[in-house]
Amino acid sequence: MLERAGVRGVLVQLGPAWREIAGRAEYPAALHSVLGQAMAASALLTGNIKLDGALSVELKSDGALRMLFAECTDQGRLRGLARWNDPLPEVLDLAALPKAIMAITIGHAERGQRYQGLVDLQHPNLSSALENYFSQSEQLPARIVLAADGEHAVGLMLQKLPGEGGHHAVEDEDAWTRIQHLTATLGDTELLTTAPEQLLYRLYHEESVRLFEPRPLAFGCSCSRERVEAMLRALGRDEVEATLEDRDGEIEVICEFCAQRYTFDRIDAEHLLSASPAASAPTTAQ
Ligand SMILES: [Zn+2]
Repeated sequence: MLERAGVRGVLVQLGPAWREIAGRAEYPAALHSVLGQAMAASALLTGNIKLDGALSVELKSDGALRMLFAECTDQGRLRGLARWNDPLPEVLDLAALPKAIMAITIGHAERGQRYQGLVDLQHPNLSSALENYFSQSEQLPARIVLAADGEHAVGLMLQKLPGEGGHHAVEDEDAWTRIQHLTATLGDTELLTTAPEQLLYRLYHEESVRLFEPRPLAFGCSCSRERVEAMLRALGRDEVEATLEDRDGEIEVICEFCAQRYTFDRIDAEHLLSASPAASAPTTAQ
């Protein structure tokens, strides 16, 4: 909280969690950077709301960047991946991606609740697209800075709190402008290499910085044998039996997020196909 200016914020610094996610594929440099920014953004947005479930930032396009997914749960578990076609441009301009769609989804997988907002992609980078999303969706004005390198993925999000009583409007506006100027002096290298508290005091030392208890974030995946079973059941008996035939009687499913391997032989397959999802889920041993 920047008390003098009436601004609240979230600062996210991912280290091991980001390296774990980035290490799952040989991402080209431009995509590596955008995926890191999206991971930091998913954690920033999660830190900003009362969340029950998970929040994801997802992008799809017909261009070289085919899809990107970044998710953070209310427990601070992050996972993410991207798929692309070579060659990828050296700088990824999100606004130049053909038929691109970006969405922010807040949901609870078990309870099936879902809220989804579409992000206008008339902006070259993720931070300006998200800032625009905040201004369009009638939320508090936000300033967002994102950066990622091989070691860290870092994000800073600041929001102007509504003024009390209304008569401070001019002062509030001045304070917000002042904070934006201070934030604009922040370079990627400084953001990526400075300890969070040091960074905040250095930038905003005249704004009465008040820090709250930090929350740990870590890599984590929500895949499970039950979810893979549900996916196989949705494929249908013909597809499952054809796959068993092709693969010498064993279906192998590997989670793309965490590399967890799930295998099903003919007996497992028969069991899951004949069981109703509601009856099988709680009794299946994990
Ligand atoms: Zn997984």
